[in-house]
Amino acid sequence: QPHGRVFNFSAGPAVLPLEVLEQAQADLLNWRGSGMSVMEMSHRGKEFQSIIDAAEADLRALLSIPDNYHVLFMQGGASTQFSAIPLNLAADGDAVDYIVTGSWSKKAAGEAKKYAKVNVAATGDNKSIPARDSWNLSADAKYVHYCDNETIQGVEFKGAPDVGGKVLIADMSSNFLSKPVDVSKYGLIYAGAQKNIGPAGVTIVIVRDDLIGNARPITPVMLDYKVQADDKSMYNTPPCWSIYIAGLVFAKMRADGGLAAALANNEKKAKILYDAIAGSNGFYNSPVDPAVRSLMNVPFTIPSNPDLEKEFIAQAAKQGMIQLKGHRSVGGMRASIYNSMPLEGVQQLAAFMQKFAAQHAK
Ligand code: PLP
Repeated sequence: QPHGRVFNFSAGPAVLPLEVLEQAQADLLNWRGSGMSVMEMSHRGKEFQSIIDAAEADLRALLSIPDNYHVLFMQGGASTQFSAIPLNLAADGDAVDYIVTGSWSKKAAGEAKKYAKVNVAATGDNKSIPARDSWNLSADAKYVHYCDNETIQGVEFKGAPDVGGKVLIADMSSNFLSKPVDVSKYGLIYAGAQKNIGPAGVTIVIVRDDLIGNARPITPVMLDYKVQADDKSMYNTPPCWSIYIAGLVFAKMRADGGLAAALANNEKKAKILYDAIAGSNGFYNSPVDPAVRSLMNVPFTIPSNPDLEKEFIAQAAKQGMIQLKGHRSVGGMRASIYNSMPLEGVQQLAAFMQKFAAQHAK
């Protein structure tokens, strides 16, 4: 690959588009004749203002974000939103509903327990999503939180769940901008940047206007959505570089056909890997219910001989396909194939899987 780059299947921080990295490299010493890099310029200056304005406009265009939603560029990663959400949207002792379908939604629920009365309305088995009619939503919950794509388990919702008019909140950290999303179905969507859109450091929060302005008095000012909205994400110094890179990614995605094109691409790539698993005569196994298999994170195992998994990972790395080890909590392998993973990377991995299986199948 150009610049001696590898195919990086990391779950995050993850691969970025080559064109974006090259653009960033070109801009590094002197952004558009300003004589400065983006890392060096005042966040209050007109140059950076134009960068953040364009990033927001492109993101709004990509997701067709309605005017009654704020786009906030926040810090602290998606994990900080686990606390910010109950602090902003629920009073002490208020009921809030969480759907647990894997590690990240479980973590989100655990953090919310510090601040609100958490009702875990449904718990999955880490391989599937509990049927909607089994969810035990509470009548008075301030919101229903779920994780749209469980990065570790590879379990992904195929569309917004119907929560009967309740405020729906989604963690889209690992599938943000991977497919069209009807933002109007949500009260709030949040996503850390470091999978599909840019460097760690910026976290996107898209929040409906009527949900802000009620943060509890103890809410840290940096986590108060109203403060961030009023100050246009510049209450303090924002993560300028991360916002700039995310802006480049948004602009490129618009030029490349937007979210419909991203989805088509992601479906094509995921199919190659799931087909490679299905066509291996049981040599590889995907633990996930086919109806909810993630387009972004593809976990798989070698059930007949788990000892071979280490060898698989090591041999793949030697051939320039790195970070295929599954999360330490689940083992096996995991191929993360975010928006910027080239098709050739996935094709090369599928070919390697086939060869490896042929060598080792009994
Ligand atoms: N939610 C999901 C779905 C994730 O995949 C991750 C990180 O991998 C997080 C939350 C935590 O994100 P951060 O590291 O930005 O706090």
